[in-house]
Amino acid sequence: MLKIKTLTCVAIGGVALGVAFGLYLATAELPTTHAQESSPVKALAAREVYYPGTEDLAPDEMRVTACGTGMPNARPKQAAACWLVELGNGDKFLFDIGTGSAERISALKIPYDYLDKVFLGHLHSDHFGDLDALWIGGVVANRVKPLRVWGPSSLEAKYGTKESLEHMEAMLAWDVDSRMGNTDTRGLFIEVTEFDYRAINKVIYQENGVTIRTIPAIHIFDGPVSFILEWNGLKFAYSSDTFPNKWWMQYTKGADIAIHEAFITPESLVEKQGFTPQAALNVGTQIHTSPAQFGKVMAETEPRLAVAYHFFNDFDTAPAVLRDIRMTYDGPLALATDYMVFNVTKDDIKVRMAAVDEDIWPQPSTIPLVPPDPKLRRTQMSDFTRGGRIVHRDILEDVYRYINEKFGSNEQVP
Ligand SMILES: [Zn+2]
Ligand SMILES: [Zn+2]
Repeated sequence: MLKIKTLTCVAIGGVALGVAFGLYLATAELPTTHAQESSPVKALAAREVYYPGTEDLAPDEMRVTACGTGMPNARPKQAAACWLVELGNGDKFLFDIGTGSAERISALKIPYDYLDKVFLGHLHSDHFGDLDALWIGGVVANRVKPLRVWGPSSLEAKYGTKESLEHMEAMLAWDVDSRMGNTDTRGLFIEVTEFDYRAINKVIYQENGVTIRTIPAIHIFDGPVSFILEWNGLKFAYSSDTFPNKWWMQYTKGADIAIHEAFITPESLVEKQGFTPQAALNVGTQIHTSPAQFGKVMAETEPRLAVAYHFFNDFDTAPAVLRDIRMTYDGPLALATDYMVFNVTKDDIKVRMAAVDEDIWPQPSTIPLVPPDPKLRRTQMSDFTRGGRIVHRDILEDVYRYINEKFGSNEQVP
């Protein structure tokens, strides 16, 4: 556990068998010895990792968890962009939900009823590729509230969030209709709020003491945005994808935690991924913010903690990212990797890695489930398909009898 005041925190993360480790280089005071707390029979007082589901969030505390920090191609170590913000007032928000991130979200042991608010910075699949997984998977895992999604407009309606998600719903018509009448499907709806991508520091969400604003981002073409969340005197800024821009500089200054893309270096794109120098320079310095530019941005933003993400954070690539950032920025810094956890209060920022349980099951719903409503059944099997069923009635009767005896139910084989 590290207390950040004037801390240089470099995490070069790795995950092995679900237990993450990080290498931290700190200039802050090191914790004093725990020798007096040792006991041969009691748990250690200090926890240097975050075990999901085991720690209260203080009323004035913000906990930010990296659920995706990598590149468009999700990999075991890093999913694509996704950040969870949890607040001491009970609110939880997801900022982007890139490919592979649904798995990370599930590892945090949070009931899906609480994960009903998603803010999309732009509509690249590495920033919303797992929205379908959260939408449908959340319902399967007992979320009974509709999913609320905020996202930007664009130059044409077909590039905006609303039409995009209408098409996602259409893509999932078979999935949605097949579940109707078979389970509690009250959560099987999406409430989309599409806002003007050109809005500058405009409030798009204000509930329960939480204000979320949008500012334009610059990334390939019109539509992308960045977000600023403010609550209880704490300010969280998240770039999604953007080239350095004047709106970020103007409105995120002094953020408590500023998460901004710092793309993998062009040399890594050439050496590790086979890009041509021309393509690597275009993607790495024109479409995205390069690490040295990230440093320049943070030198002006002056956050309490700058967090760089959107690169493969490996032993052989992170040093170049750090080298370039340090050419232009010498303030508090974390190089993000998945499952990095930031506990933010007014006078402290702790950075730890989460240790996750690979055998995780979804948590029960916080709201009592209701039996499926057969009237909602939109589709029925045809006689053709139904006629192909082979019913082992005696086996099913045994299963029903076992379950009825074990759980006190009285269900009959249809
Ligand atoms: Zn993008
Ligand atoms: Zn991206």
